[in-house]
Amino acid sequence: MPLFDFRCRSCGRRFEAFVRASDIPRCPSCKGVKLEQLPSMFSISSLEITKARVRTAKKERRRSRAYRDKIMAERETKHHD
Ligand SMILES: [Zn+2]
Repeated sequence: MPLFDFRCRSCGRRFEAFVRASDIPRCPSCKGVKLEQLPSMFSISSLEITKARVRTAKKERRRSRAYRDKIMAERETKHHD
């Protein structure tokens, strides 16, 4: 399904919508149908989103490993008491 960028002529809101041939997209803010179609940035934005997700996942993994190390260290300390 193609993703298109739209700008609402009524309220100026920009949004993305998947549009099938039979669908008429509506503004999510004011439900207006007077929309201006903008050049789609889908390929670029999806790539950026993927990169951001990978970055976040790496960060999360690092954080959870650090957390586990902390727990282990605490256990060690308790064990030795
Ligand atoms: Zn609107």
